[in-house]
Amino acid sequence: MENWRRNLEELARAGMLRSLRTIEGVQGPRVRLDGREVLLLCSNNYLGLAGHPLLARAAAAASLDLGTGSGASRLVSGSLALHEELEERIAAFKGSEAALVFNSGYAANTGILQGLAGPEDIIFSDALNHASIIDGCRLSRARTLVYPHRDVDALETLMKREWPQRRGRWFIVTDGVFSMDGDMAPLPALADLKEHYDALLMVDDAHGTGVLGATGRGSAEALGCLHRIDLHMGTLGKALGGFGAFLAAPRVVVDILVNRSRPFIFSTSLPPAVLAAAIAAFELVGGEEGRHRRATLQAKREIFAAPLRAAGLDLCGSTTQIVPILTGSPHPTMAAAAALLEKGIFLQGIRPPTVSEGRCRLRATIMSDHDPQELAQAAATIIEVLHASPSPDPGSGPH
Ligand SMILES: *Cc1c(COP(=O)(O)O)cnc(C)c1O
Repeated sequence: MENWRRNLEELARAGMLRSLRTIEGVQGPRVRLDGREVLLLCSNNYLGLAGHPLLARAAAAASLDLGTGSGASRLVSGSLALHEELEERIAAFKGSEAALVFNSGYAANTGILQGLAGPEDIIFSDALNHASIIDGCRLSRARTLVYPHRDVDALETLMKREWPQRRGRWFIVTDGVFSMDGDMAPLPALADLKEHYDALLMVDDAHGTGVLGATGRGSAEALGCLHRIDLHMGTLGKALGGFGAFLAAPRVVVDILVNRSRPFIFSTSLPPAVLAAAIAAFELVGGEEGRHRRATLQAKREIFAAPLRAAGLDLCGSTTQIVPILTGSPHPTMAAAAALLEKGIFLQGIRPPTVSEGRCRLRATIMSDHDPQELAQAAATIIEVLHASPSPDPGSGPH
């Protein structure tokens, strides 16, 4: 215990301590944080569906009808018709043969990679992939070769090097939209490579699902290569406003995962309310309201990002609703986040290990329900706070 207390004190000294806060209210543009109303700029509820009455009603009806729990893993007490309906919907959405629902994005990434890859195999993984992909690579015991962020040439060099002694399966795994940078994977070029080197391409579209592409099918739709992705992973807890995750893939992949994927096999399945909300969310995302919300989100993202860019701030190459503002090292980052909170703006300072040393940032996320004036005002306040910061930190100093 004493040891852990010391560890926590060391983290606090380094500006690296993490702690929890209490909020009240739905994940809308404004919430109450520790009793005070603030502008919420750190929710992944991009399309406002987490507070949407259609989803809430679907969830409530499913609970009243079928109860609150699924009782066991699907291999033990069976699938609900709702699991199957949701999976059919997801497969159709991604244009895949089949789909499998997981309990969270974290469970999906660990379970997909552990279930499909083994010690003979190689996983080529982008340097900025989500932590759950990194953990999935570890659990799979495959050799993992990390390529520099979005660097297709470096990836090809690695693949060429490995080609002569190839034994097992090869996977290329990437976030569609990178969660901390808000930039996108070069999916068409990755698809070229996977075809040339006979690999499988897996895209984690936690932040693209519902948001990107004309019909919300995600990053690959936006980049015109939806049908070239082998393994579409996506989540239900961000733009889709609920909870859970999925893989859309060929039938044989889903069948193997049902037999091998430990987070799928050894965990109680999602309950009726969550499944019904997800089905309602896909209905909404695919319709006119979804299209409208996506367009609104893009416009509001620009209202927020344009002045930041014009002020010379480094937005880490973001082109999406995730807008990071590079600040450098932990202390100035956390000081800026605290100063912003003081002014009623709630966003997170992001530090290692979530991002690499010297790449700390404020990470803002835009929602379709945000008020444009409030976004413009928030951008102005961020500029003011960062320029007023006593030690502008390029992140290059020792630390
Ligand atoms: C949030 C996220 C996950 C995890 O999804 P959860 O459903 O929250 O567990 C996986 N991958 C990426 C890129 C994410 O941003």
